[in-house]
Amino acid sequence: MDDCVFCRILAGDIPSTSVYEDDRIYAFRDIDPKAPTHILVIPRRHLASLNEVTPGDRDLLGHMMTTATAIAVDEGLAPRGYRLVINCGADGGQAVDHLHLHLLGGRALGWPPG
Ligand code: 5GP
Ligand code: ZN
Repeated sequence: MDDCVFCRILAGDIPSTSVYEDDRIYAFRDIDPKAPTHILVIPRRHLASLNEVTPGDRDLLGHMMTTATAIAVDEGLAPRGYRLVINCGADGGQAVDHLHLHLLGGRALGWPPG
């Protein structure tokens, strides 16, 4: 996907700060952090959003989430807590059309979201 910013990050065309990677997923620091710790976990396979997810992606999504929780521990976020978010579509506030899980922590986060 030449026009997908996260595919371009995966290809190494756009630099990013790596946090974790394996054969299925990549985690990197958000370029415009909304909290002291803001990390994105993405699948290497281009999926535009949660709207494209099928039951066959269950393991992938579970892997993204359990990796994010492990990163949260590594980043020292677990004792005070943190938030995992996937925005979907226009109403969900999704700006980049490549599925991504946000890990946010390091400050008290408001609720409900805007
Ligand atoms: P969304 O609003 O789609 O859920 O979140 C997209 C996120 O991607 C935003 O938090 C934004 O700061 C981040 N982002 C957009 N472009 C880049 C980029 O080129 N590099 C990095 N590291 N993050 C990006
Ligand atoms: Zn992509």
